[in-house]
Amino acid sequence: MKAGDSALGWIERNSAALIELSDKIWDYAEVGLQELRSAADQEQFLRAQGFEVRSGVAGMPSAFVASWGKGRPVVGFLGEYDSLPGLSQKTVPVKDPVQAGKPGHGCGHNLLGVAGLAGACALKAELELSGLPGTVRYHGSPAEETLVGKVFMAKDGIFDDLDVCLDWHPGAANVVRNGSSNAMNSVKFTFHGRTAHAAGDPHHGRSALDAVELMNVGANYLREHIIEKARIHYVITDGGGEPNVVPAHAQVWYYVRAPERAQVEEIYAWLRDIAKGAALMTQTTFDVRLLAGCYNYLPNQSLNRLLHRTMEQVGPNKWTEEELEFARKMNESFPAGQKEAGLRASKAPPEVFSQLINDTILPYRDDETPGGGSTDVGDVSWITPTGRFAAATGVLGQPGHSWQVAACSGMSIGHKGMLMAAKILALAGLELATNPEEVSKAREEWAGRTKDRPYKTPIPEGITPPLDQLPKH
Ligand SMILES: [Zn+2]
Repeated sequence: MKAGDSALGWIERNSAALIELSDKIWDYAEVGLQELRSAADQEQFLRAQGFEVRSGVAGMPSAFVASWGKGRPVVGFLGEYDSLPGLSQKTVPVKDPVQAGKPGHGCGHNLLGVAGLAGACALKAELELSGLPGTVRYHGSPAEETLVGKVFMAKDGIFDDLDVCLDWHPGAANVVRNGSSNAMNSVKFTFHGRTAHAAGDPHHGRSALDAVELMNVGANYLREHIIEKARIHYVITDGGGEPNVVPAHAQVWYYVRAPERAQVEEIYAWLRDIAKGAALMTQTTFDVRLLAGCYNYLPNQSLNRLLHRTMEQVGPNKWTEEELEFARKMNESFPAGQKEAGLRASKAPPEVFSQLINDTILPYRDDETPGGGSTDVGDVSWITPTGRFAAATGVLGQPGHSWQVAACSGMSIGHKGMLMAAKILALAGLELATNPEEVSKAREEWAGRTKDRPYKTPIPEGITPPLDQLPKH
């Protein structure tokens, strides 16, 4: 038997149970901070595998840490299991919700979590058999979509003693990108005015909605004077009731994003000044509620190169005629040119353009340019070296956060991608557990990049996870 055989053997033997677990979570489709059943099923699975589980960590009922083993290195894996509102979808290639308007796994987090859990269990199986030292951790992290889970877990010091951490995300291609993500703040501004009859005696009213509108005008003028790569977007979550009542309350929810944490802080401070100005102009008052904030992902070349080598060792999935037919049908739902534009933007090699589902491994990309989005994996990467990759669990050309992703995440295309990801996580974890050089390389690179810039939680003291802000379904 060679190194890795026990880990891979564990995944082979347990693949049916892993698929069942992932399908259950897909079926629950619980949104952020409400993933109680998804977390409980994972915890039960891990306990049965001999892991010690701490439930409800960092003030979140659906957050947990599972740990096995002794001594160093401490190798961490990340898992998510939150769904997205409104993306309920059957496992068919045309839009057809299980229940219209209900949540669905439109980002494939049912696969994400189970592959992380499987990577941890498989690594444990190999270490246990060989008697090698090392601690394996799996972090059940809720509410990634709202950038809550790992940020509050980080604030509680949960990642502090990791030597290294491995993560992945379901996607349309097998690729290791060294790219960063945007740092971000999620914040709600609530204005308070005075109600009055909007026609009878408007002069007695003070409109909270006016304040929201003026704040948004201010924010839109602000755009000229911030760095080009920053992003500001908002929705009005409360705009009043009826036009004949001057709204006494109104609320706007903002996301502020930029490539670096310090840039987000700077723009966020200016935005708060704009809110002050809007309140002054309208004789209203306001309060600010920071819901979450996160760091940009700090790439780690050493870990990402290791993940790329391991991905090549594991090899890509091949797809059956049935799966390709599913993809062909799903392609009809994509606007013309969308797939090609996406592939060009991600610098995919020419052979990928003719594939329906990715069956190759894309070249390693060391370009660190951030994508537009944000993830709370960013916070973990500033606390411990963190490597990431994407595995093909869906159809090339699929939009992110879509019914198409939800459909693929509940059937064989998603399952196969998940098992491939589990193998990569387990084997890369084994390399780190048995080769101290790999760990020190990753840690040296990380130490160099975080020198003079230690992680400081973006969450001000006294703020707890936004359990009171849960959407109603
Ligand atoms: Zn996601």
